[in-house]
Amino acid sequence: MTDLSQPGSQPAAGAQPEDSADGVPPPLWLLAELTYRCPLHCAFCYNPLDYTDHSRELSTAQWIDVLREARALGAVQLGFSGGEPLVRDDLEALVEEAHKLGFYTNLITSGVGLTDQRLGDLKAAGLDHIQLSFQDSTQQLNDFLSSTRTFDLKQRVAASIKRHGFPMVLNCVLHRYNLPHVDKIIEMALAMGAEYLELANTQYYGWAHVNEAQLMPTREQLDEAEAVVARYRRTHGERCKIFFVVPDYFERRPKRCMNGWGAVFLGIAPDGAALPCHAARGLPGLTLPNVRETPLREIWYDSDAFNRFRGLHWLKEPCRSCDEKERDLGGCRCQAYLLTGDAANADPVCDKSPFHESVVKVVQRAASASTVASGPREQPILFRNDANSRTLAAAAREPNVPDVASGSGAQP
Ligand code: SF4
Ligand code: SF4
Repeated sequence: MTDLSQPGSQPAAGAQPEDSADGVPPPLWLLAELTYRCPLHCAFCYNPLDYTDHSRELSTAQWIDVLREARALGAVQLGFSGGEPLVRDDLEALVEEAHKLGFYTNLITSGVGLTDQRLGDLKAAGLDHIQLSFQDSTQQLNDFLSSTRTFDLKQRVAASIKRHGFPMVLNCVLHRYNLPHVDKIIEMALAMGAEYLELANTQYYGWAHVNEAQLMPTREQLDEAEAVVARYRRTHGERCKIFFVVPDYFERRPKRCMNGWGAVFLGIAPDGAALPCHAARGLPGLTLPNVRETPLREIWYDSDAFNRFRGLHWLKEPCRSCDEKERDLGGCRCQAYLLTGDAANADPVCDKSPFHESVVKVVQRAASASTVASGPREQPILFRNDANSRTLAAAAREPNVPDVASGSGAQP
Protein backbone atom coordinates (compact mmCIF):
# COMPACT_ATOMS: atom_id res chain seq x y z
CA MET A 1 0.00 0.00 0.00
CA THR A 2 1.40 3.32 -1.01
CA ASP A 3 0.91 6.86 0.06
CA LEU A 4 2.58 9.93 -1.31
CA SER A 5 2.80 11.30 2.19
CA GLN A 6 4.99 8.41 3.22
CA PRO A 7 6.64 9.52 6.41
CA GLY A 8 10.32 9.26 7.04
CA SER A 9 11.25 10.10 3.50
CA GLN A 10 14.13 12.49 3.02
CA PRO A 11 15.41 14.17 -0.07
CA ALA A 12 18.31 12.48 -1.76
CA ALA A 13 21.55 14.21 -2.51
CA GLY A 14 22.04 15.29 -6.07
CA ALA A 15 21.47 17.88 -8.73
CA GLN A 16 18.61 20.35 -8.49
CA PRO A 17 16.59 19.91 -11.68
CA GLU A 18 14.95 22.88 -13.29
CA ASP A 19 11.36 23.37 -14.36
CA SER A 20 10.64 23.08 -18.08
CA ALA A 21 10.38 26.24 -20.17
CA ASP A 22 6.59 26.31 -19.75
CA GLY A 23 6.83 26.03 -15.96
CA VAL A 24 6.09 22.31 -15.50
CA PRO A 25 8.09 21.13 -12.49
CA PRO A 26 10.06 17.87 -12.67
CA PRO A 27 8.72 14.76 -10.92
CA LEU A 28 9.98 14.30 -7.35
CA TRP A 29 8.43 10.93 -6.59
CA LEU A 30 9.00 7.78 -8.59
CA LEU A 31 6.85 4.80 -7.65
CA ALA A 32 8.18 1.62 -9.23
CA GLU A 33 5.38 -0.95 -9.14
CA LEU A 34 7.65 -3.87 -9.95
CA THR A 35 4.95 -6.52 -10.23
CA TYR A 36 1.25 -7.18 -9.77
CA ARG A 37 2.04 -10.61 -8.34
CA CYS A 38 1.28 -10.81 -4.63
CA PRO A 39 0.81 -13.65 -2.15
CA LEU A 40 -1.88 -11.66 -0.34
CA HIS A 41 -5.46 -11.04 -1.49
CA CYS A 42 -6.45 -7.82 0.26
CA ALA A 43 -10.06 -6.75 0.01
CA PHE A 44 -8.95 -3.11 -0.42
CA CYS A 45 -6.02 -3.69 -2.80
CA TYR A 46 -5.20 -0.62 -4.88
CA ASN A 47 -4.02 -2.62 -7.90
CA PRO A 48 -6.33 -2.38 -10.92
CA LEU A 49 -9.24 -4.82 -11.04
CA ASP A 50 -7.98 -6.16 -14.37
CA TYR A 51 -4.35 -6.49 -13.27
CA THR A 52 -4.17 -9.96 -14.84
CA ASP A 53 -4.49 -8.25 -18.24
CA HIS A 54 -1.24 -6.35 -17.61
CA SER A 55 1.13 -9.03 -16.38
CA ARG A 56 4.05 -8.63 -18.86
CA GLU A 57 6.65 -7.20 -16.51
CA LEU A 58 9.59 -4.97 -17.39
CA SER A 59 12.96 -6.71 -17.33
CA THR A 60 15.75 -5.77 -14.92
CA ALA A 61 17.52 -3.79 -17.67
CA GLN A 62 14.31 -1.91 -18.51
CA TRP A 63 13.76 -1.02 -14.84
CA ILE A 64 17.34 0.23 -14.57
CA ASP A 65 16.73 2.49 -17.59
CA VAL A 66 13.59 3.82 -15.86
CA LEU A 67 15.57 4.60 -12.70
CA ARG A 68 18.31 6.40 -14.64
CA GLU A 69 15.86 8.43 -16.73
CA ALA A 70 13.77 9.37 -13.69
CA ARG A 71 16.82 10.48 -11.72
CA ALA A 72 18.04 12.54 -14.68
CA LEU A 73 14.61 14.18 -14.78
CA GLY A 74 14.96 15.13 -11.13
CA ALA A 75 13.13 12.44 -9.11
CA VAL A 76 14.63 12.02 -5.62
CA GLN A 77 12.27 9.71 -3.75
CA LEU A 78 11.77 6.16 -4.93
CA GLY A 79 9.26 3.62 -3.67
CA PHE A 80 9.55 -0.03 -4.68
CA SER A 81 6.03 -1.36 -4.60
CA GLY A 82 3.74 -3.85 -6.28
CA GLY A 83 1.96 -6.26 -5.76
CA GLU A 84 4.70 -7.60 -3.58
CA PRO A 85 8.08 -6.32 -4.81
CA LEU A 86 9.90 -9.15 -3.01
CA VAL A 87 8.63 -11.68 -5.56
CA ARG A 88 11.14 -10.10 -7.97
CA ASP A 89 14.54 -11.68 -7.38
CA ASP A 90 16.24 -8.64 -8.96
CA LEU A 91 14.98 -6.31 -6.21
CA GLU A 92 18.42 -6.11 -4.58
CA ALA A 93 20.05 -5.20 -7.92
CA LEU A 94 17.48 -2.47 -8.50
CA VAL A 95 17.96 -1.08 -4.97
CA GLU A 96 21.72 -1.04 -5.51
CA GLU A 97 21.36 0.89 -8.77
CA ALA A 98 18.89 3.33 -7.18
CA HIS A 99 21.27 3.91 -4.27
CA LYS A 100 24.16 4.63 -6.64
CA LEU A 101 21.98 7.11 -8.51
CA GLY A 102 21.29 8.99 -5.27
CA PHE A 103 17.62 8.11 -4.69
CA TYR A 104 16.17 7.88 -1.19
CA THR A 105 14.66 4.40 -1.37
CA ASN A 106 11.66 2.89 0.38
CA LEU A 107 10.51 -0.73 0.15
CA ILE A 108 6.72 -1.03 0.46
CA THR A 109 5.98 -4.60 1.42
CA SER A 110 3.58 -7.06 3.00
CA GLY A 111 6.64 -8.70 4.58
CA VAL A 112 6.06 -12.03 2.85
CA GLY A 113 9.45 -13.16 1.56
CA LEU A 114 11.47 -10.70 3.66
CA THR A 115 13.92 -13.18 5.13
CA ASP A 116 16.96 -12.28 7.23
CA GLN A 117 19.13 -13.04 4.22
CA ARG A 118 17.21 -10.62 1.99
CA LEU A 119 17.15 -7.94 4.70
CA GLY A 120 20.93 -8.18 4.96
CA ASP A 121 21.32 -8.04 1.18
CA LEU A 122 18.96 -5.08 0.89
CA LYS A 123 20.86 -3.26 3.62
CA ALA A 124 24.12 -3.90 1.80
CA ALA A 125 22.53 -2.67 -1.44
CA GLY A 126 21.71 0.65 0.26
CA LEU A 127 17.98 0.43 0.98
CA ASP A 128 17.02 3.37 3.22
CA HIS A 129 13.58 2.62 4.59
CA ILE A 130 10.92 -0.09 4.89
CA GLN A 131 7.15 0.26 5.02
CA LEU A 132 5.51 -2.89 6.35
CA SER A 133 1.77 -3.39 6.07
CA PHE A 134 -0.53 -5.02 8.61
CA GLN A 135 -4.23 -5.49 8.05
CA ASP A 136 -5.11 -5.36 11.77
CA SER A 137 -3.78 -5.83 15.30
CA THR A 138 -5.55 -9.19 15.59
CA GLN A 139 -4.54 -12.35 13.84
CA GLN A 140 -8.13 -13.16 12.98
CA LEU A 141 -8.87 -9.96 11.09
CA ASN A 142 -5.38 -9.57 9.61
CA ASP A 143 -5.60 -13.03 8.13
CA PHE A 144 -9.22 -12.69 7.07
CA LEU A 145 -8.76 -9.38 5.23
CA SER A 146 -5.68 -10.56 3.35
CA SER A 147 -7.14 -14.05 2.87
CA THR A 148 -3.81 -15.52 4.03
CA ARG A 149 -2.21 -16.69 7.29
CA THR A 150 0.41 -13.96 7.54
CA PHE A 151 -0.04 -12.25 10.92
CA ASP A 152 2.63 -14.22 12.81
CA LEU A 153 5.05 -13.93 9.93
CA LYS A 154 4.58 -10.14 9.80
CA GLN A 155 5.36 -9.93 13.52
CA ARG A 156 8.62 -11.81 12.98
CA VAL A 157 9.48 -9.68 9.95
CA ALA A 158 8.91 -6.45 11.92
CA ALA A 159 11.40 -7.63 14.56
CA SER A 160 13.95 -8.52 11.87
CA ILE A 161 13.56 -5.13 10.18
CA LYS A 162 14.42 -3.43 13.47
CA ARG A 163 17.33 -5.82 14.13
CA HIS A 164 18.82 -4.82 10.79
CA GLY A 165 18.57 -1.16 11.78
CA PHE A 166 16.06 0.06 9.22
CA PRO A 167 13.71 2.95 9.99
CA MET A 168 10.25 1.39 9.80
CA VAL A 169 6.79 2.64 8.89
CA LEU A 170 3.96 0.41 9.94
CA ASN A 171 1.07 0.85 7.55
CA CYS A 172 -2.48 -0.22 8.28
CA VAL A 173 -5.39 0.49 5.94
CA LEU A 174 -8.46 1.45 7.97
CA HIS A 175 -12.13 0.66 7.32
CA ARG A 176 -15.20 -0.30 9.29
CA TYR A 177 -13.76 -3.64 10.46
CA ASN A 178 -10.59 -2.39 12.09
CA LEU A 179 -11.37 1.23 13.03
CA PRO A 180 -12.54 0.06 16.48
CA HIS A 181 -9.04 -1.46 16.96
CA VAL A 182 -7.05 1.72 16.38
CA ASP A 183 -5.78 1.78 19.98
CA LYS A 184 -4.52 -1.80 19.65
CA ILE A 185 -2.92 -1.05 16.29
CA ILE A 186 -1.07 1.90 17.85
CA GLU A 187 0.02 -0.29 20.79
CA MET A 188 1.30 -2.86 18.31
CA ALA A 189 3.32 -0.22 16.44
CA LEU A 190 4.79 1.07 19.71
CA ALA A 191 5.69 -2.45 20.85
CA MET A 192 7.42 -3.12 17.53
CA GLY A 193 9.46 0.08 17.75
CA ALA A 194 8.06 1.57 14.54
CA GLU A 195 9.23 5.14 13.99
CA TYR A 196 6.06 5.95 12.04
CA LEU A 197 2.54 4.59 11.91
CA GLU A 198 0.49 5.33 8.86
CA LEU A 199 -3.21 4.84 9.57
CA ALA A 200 -4.37 5.07 5.99
CA ASN A 201 -8.11 5.29 5.68
CA THR A 202 -9.27 3.30 2.68
CA GLN A 203 -9.49 5.19 -0.60
CA TYR A 204 -12.41 3.75 -2.53
CA TYR A 205 -10.82 2.88 -5.87
CA GLY A 206 -10.10 -0.51 -7.42
CA TRP A 207 -10.91 -3.44 -5.14
CA ALA A 208 -11.95 -1.15 -2.31
CA HIS A 209 -14.55 0.43 -4.58
CA VAL A 210 -16.01 -3.00 -5.38
CA ASN A 211 -16.11 -3.73 -1.63
CA GLU A 212 -17.27 -0.25 -0.63
CA ALA A 213 -20.54 -1.41 0.95
CA GLN A 214 -18.54 -3.72 3.19
CA LEU A 215 -15.67 -1.42 4.09
CA MET A 216 -17.15 2.08 4.41
CA PRO A 217 -17.05 3.16 8.05
CA THR A 218 -19.50 5.36 9.92
CA ARG A 219 -18.71 8.91 10.94
CA GLU A 220 -18.90 7.83 14.59
CA GLN A 221 -16.19 5.21 14.01
CA LEU A 222 -13.95 7.81 12.41
CA ASP A 223 -14.54 10.39 15.15
CA GLU A 224 -13.72 7.82 17.83
CA ALA A 225 -10.57 6.68 16.03
CA GLU A 226 -9.44 10.30 15.57
CA ALA A 227 -9.91 10.93 19.30
CA VAL A 228 -7.84 7.82 20.12
CA VAL A 229 -5.06 9.00 17.80
CA ALA A 230 -5.10 12.46 19.42
CA ARG A 231 -4.83 10.86 22.88
CA TYR A 232 -1.81 8.77 21.90
CA ARG A 233 -0.15 11.76 20.24
CA ARG A 234 -0.51 13.65 23.53
CA THR A 235 0.77 10.83 25.72
CA HIS A 236 3.52 9.41 23.49
CA GLY A 237 4.73 12.51 21.66
CA GLU A 238 7.23 11.81 18.89
CA ARG A 239 8.14 8.27 19.98
CA CYS A 240 6.08 7.01 17.06
CA LYS A 241 4.78 9.61 14.62
CA ILE A 242 1.16 8.76 13.79
CA PHE A 243 -0.39 9.79 10.49
CA PHE A 244 -4.18 9.70 10.26
CA VAL A 245 -6.14 11.25 7.41
CA VAL A 246 -9.94 11.33 7.36
CA PRO A 247 -11.25 9.66 4.19
CA ASP A 248 -12.45 11.98 1.45
CA TYR A 249 -16.09 10.86 1.62
CA PHE A 250 -16.44 12.44 5.05
CA GLU A 251 -15.15 15.87 4.01
CA ARG A 252 -16.88 18.80 2.28
CA ARG A 253 -13.87 19.79 0.20
CA PRO A 254 -11.63 17.40 -1.76
CA LYS A 255 -7.92 16.98 -1.27
CA ARG A 256 -5.42 18.17 -3.82
CA CYS A 257 -5.05 14.74 -5.30
CA MET A 258 -1.44 13.55 -5.80
CA ASN A 259 -0.50 17.13 -4.93
CA GLY A 260 -1.57 17.95 -8.46
CA TRP A 261 -1.82 15.77 -11.56
CA GLY A 262 1.57 15.57 -13.28
CA ALA A 263 3.09 17.82 -10.59
CA VAL A 264 5.08 15.56 -8.27
CA PHE A 265 4.20 11.89 -8.76
CA LEU A 266 5.33 9.54 -11.51
CA GLY A 267 4.25 5.91 -11.23
CA ILE A 268 5.44 3.11 -13.46
CA ALA A 269 3.24 0.01 -13.59
CA PRO A 270 4.76 -3.49 -13.86
CA ASP A 271 4.21 -3.56 -17.64
CA GLY A 272 5.85 -0.15 -18.14
CA ALA A 273 2.70 1.99 -18.33
CA ALA A 274 3.35 5.45 -16.87
CA LEU A 275 0.77 6.60 -14.32
CA PRO A 276 0.00 10.20 -13.25
CA CYS A 277 -1.81 8.64 -10.27
CA HIS A 278 -2.04 5.10 -8.86
CA ALA A 279 -5.58 4.59 -10.09
CA ALA A 280 -5.22 6.26 -13.51
CA ARG A 281 -5.44 2.88 -15.23
CA GLY A 282 -9.15 2.87 -14.43
CA LEU A 283 -9.88 6.10 -16.35
CA PRO A 284 -11.43 5.37 -19.76
CA GLY A 285 -10.15 7.35 -22.72
CA LEU A 286 -6.79 8.03 -21.13
CA THR A 287 -4.05 6.36 -23.17
CA LEU A 288 -1.17 5.68 -20.82
CA PRO A 289 2.26 6.06 -22.43
CA ASN A 290 4.70 3.20 -21.92
CA VAL A 291 8.39 3.37 -21.05
CA ARG A 292 9.02 0.54 -23.53
CA GLU A 293 8.26 2.94 -26.37
CA THR A 294 8.66 6.49 -25.08
CA PRO A 295 11.46 8.23 -23.16
CA LEU A 296 10.45 9.27 -19.66
CA ARG A 297 11.16 12.96 -20.32
CA GLU A 298 8.71 12.94 -23.23
CA ILE A 299 6.14 11.07 -21.10
CA TRP A 300 6.37 13.58 -18.25
CA TYR A 301 6.40 16.81 -20.24
CA ASP A 302 4.61 16.06 -23.51
CA SER A 303 2.20 13.12 -23.20
CA ASP A 304 -1.55 13.70 -23.30
CA ALA A 305 -1.99 11.50 -20.20
CA PHE A 306 0.23 13.71 -18.03
CA ASN A 307 -1.09 16.98 -19.48
CA ARG A 308 -4.81 16.14 -19.57
CA PHE A 309 -5.50 17.25 -15.98
CA ARG A 310 -2.31 19.16 -15.22
CA GLY A 311 -2.75 22.62 -13.72
CA LEU A 312 -6.04 24.47 -14.13
CA HIS A 313 -6.61 24.80 -17.90
CA TRP A 314 -8.96 21.80 -18.14
CA LEU A 315 -11.34 22.72 -15.28
CA LYS A 316 -15.09 22.77 -15.94
CA GLU A 317 -17.69 24.61 -13.90
CA PRO A 318 -18.17 24.92 -10.98
CA CYS A 319 -14.39 24.62 -10.49
CA ARG A 320 -13.40 27.01 -13.30
CA SER A 321 -14.87 30.05 -11.59
CA CYS A 322 -14.31 28.83 -8.03
CA ASP A 323 -12.08 30.92 -5.77
CA GLU A 324 -10.74 27.75 -4.08
CA LYS A 325 -9.44 26.09 -7.24
CA GLU A 326 -5.76 26.86 -6.55
CA ARG A 327 -6.03 24.95 -3.28
CA ASP A 328 -7.47 21.63 -4.46
CA LEU A 329 -7.24 21.77 -8.29
CA GLY A 330 -10.71 20.26 -8.48
CA GLY A 331 -9.82 17.21 -6.35
CA CYS A 332 -9.48 13.61 -7.46
CA ARG A 333 -10.03 12.64 -11.10
CA CYS A 334 -10.64 8.97 -10.32
CA GLN A 335 -13.26 9.81 -7.70
CA ALA A 336 -14.92 12.17 -10.18
CA TYR A 337 -15.05 9.41 -12.79
CA LEU A 338 -16.25 6.66 -10.45
CA LEU A 339 -19.07 8.74 -8.97
CA THR A 340 -20.10 11.00 -11.86
CA GLY A 341 -18.99 9.11 -14.98
CA ASP A 342 -16.75 12.01 -16.14
CA ALA A 343 -13.18 12.36 -14.91
CA ALA A 344 -13.20 16.09 -15.76
CA ASN A 345 -16.03 16.88 -13.34
CA ALA A 346 -15.45 18.45 -9.94
CA ASP A 347 -14.64 15.82 -7.34
CA PRO A 348 -18.13 15.08 -5.91
CA VAL A 349 -16.70 15.14 -2.39
CA CYS A 350 -17.01 18.92 -2.80
CA ASP A 351 -20.38 20.21 -1.66
CA LYS A 352 -20.34 22.71 -4.54
CA SER A 353 -20.45 19.79 -6.99
CA PRO A 354 -23.89 19.02 -8.46
CA PHE A 355 -23.04 15.34 -7.81
CA HIS A 356 -22.23 15.77 -4.12
CA GLU A 357 -25.40 13.88 -3.24
CA SER A 358 -23.79 10.64 -4.51
CA VAL A 359 -21.16 10.92 -1.76
CA VAL A 360 -23.73 11.80 0.89
CA LYS A 361 -25.73 8.70 -0.07
CA VAL A 362 -22.70 6.41 0.30
CA VAL A 363 -22.04 7.79 3.78
CA GLN A 364 -25.70 7.47 4.72
CA ARG A 365 -25.79 3.87 3.49
CA ALA A 366 -22.78 3.09 5.68
CA ALA A 367 -24.51 4.68 8.68
CA SER A 368 -27.69 2.66 8.18
CA ALA A 369 -25.95 -0.63 7.34
CA SER A 370 -25.83 -3.28 10.03
CA THR A 371 -22.63 -3.23 12.05
CA VAL A 372 -20.02 -5.93 11.68
CA ALA A 373 -21.10 -7.60 14.86
CA SER A 374 -24.82 -7.44 14.37
CA GLY A 375 -25.60 -9.40 11.30
CA PRO A 376 -24.78 -10.58 7.80
CA ARG A 377 -23.77 -8.09 5.11
CA GLU A 378 -25.85 -7.88 1.97
CA GLN A 379 -22.93 -8.65 -0.32
CA PRO A 380 -19.87 -10.82 0.32
CA ILE A 381 -16.37 -9.35 0.20
CA LEU A 382 -14.61 -9.82 -3.09
CA PHE A 383 -10.96 -10.65 -2.52
CA ARG A 384 -8.20 -9.61 -4.86
CA ASN A 385 -7.05 -12.73 -6.64
CA ASP A 386 -6.27 -13.81 -10.19
CA ALA A 387 -9.57 -15.62 -10.72
CA ASN A 388 -11.65 -12.63 -9.65
CA SER A 389 -9.43 -10.27 -11.67
CA ARG A 390 -9.91 -12.36 -14.83
CA THR A 391 -13.68 -12.44 -14.33
CA LEU A 392 -13.84 -8.68 -13.74
CA ALA A 393 -11.60 -8.00 -16.74
CA ALA A 394 -13.81 -10.23 -18.91
CA ALA A 395 -16.93 -8.51 -17.56
CA ALA A 396 -15.47 -5.12 -18.49
CA ARG A 397 -14.78 -6.37 -22.03
CA GLU A 398 -18.00 -8.31 -22.43
CA PRO A 399 -21.03 -7.06 -20.50
CA ASN A 400 -22.78 -10.48 -20.70
CA VAL A 401 -20.29 -12.28 -18.44
CA PRO A 402 -21.84 -12.79 -14.96
CA ASP A 403 -20.83 -10.18 -12.38
CA VAL A 404 -18.28 -11.70 -10.02
CA ALA A 405 -19.28 -9.24 -7.32
CA SER A 406 -22.55 -11.10 -6.88
CA GLY A 407 -20.91 -14.50 -6.39
CA SER A 408 -17.73 -15.92 -4.93
CA GLY A 409 -16.90 -13.79 -1.94
CA ALA A 410 -16.69 -14.37 1.80
CA GLN A 411 -17.92 -12.93 5.04
CA PRO A 412 -16.11 -12.68 8.32
S1 SF4 B 1 -3.01 -7.74 -2.16
FE1 SF4 B 1 -2.57 -6.49 -0.33
S2 SF4 B 1 -0.37 -6.67 -0.03
FE2 SF4 B 1 -0.83 -7.35 -2.13
S3 SF4 B 1 -0.57 -5.51 -3.40
FE3 SF4 B 1 -2.71 -5.61 -2.87
S4 SF4 B 1 -2.87 -4.35 -1.00
FE4 SF4 B 1 -0.71 -4.82 -1.27
S1 SF4 C 1 -15.85 23.65 -6.84
FE1 SF4 C 1 -14.03 22.61 -7.60
S2 SF4 C 1 -12.31 24.02 -7.19
FE2 SF4 C 1 -14.08 24.72 -5.95
S3 SF4 C 1 -13.76 23.79 -3.93
FE3 SF4 C 1 -15.09 22.40 -5.12
S4 SF4 C 1 -13.69 20.93 -6.13
FE4 SF4 C 1 -12.45 22.67 -5.39
